[in-house]
Amino acid sequence: MDSLNCDHVSERLSDYLDDELGASDREIVRAHLESCVECTETLAAYRRVVGHASALDDRPVEADLWPGIAARIGARVPELIYGRPRPGRRDHGGGCPRRWA
Ligand SMILES: [Zn+2]
Repeated sequence: MDSLNCDHVSERLSDYLDDELGASDREIVRAHLESCVECTETLAAYRRVVGHASALDDRPVEADLWPGIAARIGARVPELIYGRPRPGRRDHGGGCPRRWA
């Protein structure tokens, strides 16, 4: 249902922050952000870097989003750490069969 993918949205996040998007673009970005943790994180990072979000508007959007984001990030951390074991990468400790090419 996403009419824009993450690449398109991330290209617009800066304009979204600066309130330079048209109403429809802004709505599309906002809708995407609601369903995409990664883009929401990117936007939050932008906001922190730019540091003028509170000067633009003071809506408690981030306050609403952050608990959910944090929960999802927390849920993803173990997955990132443990979710990709590397079977077959055992250290044999014997002679290395690899040659210098
Ligand atoms: Zn996205």
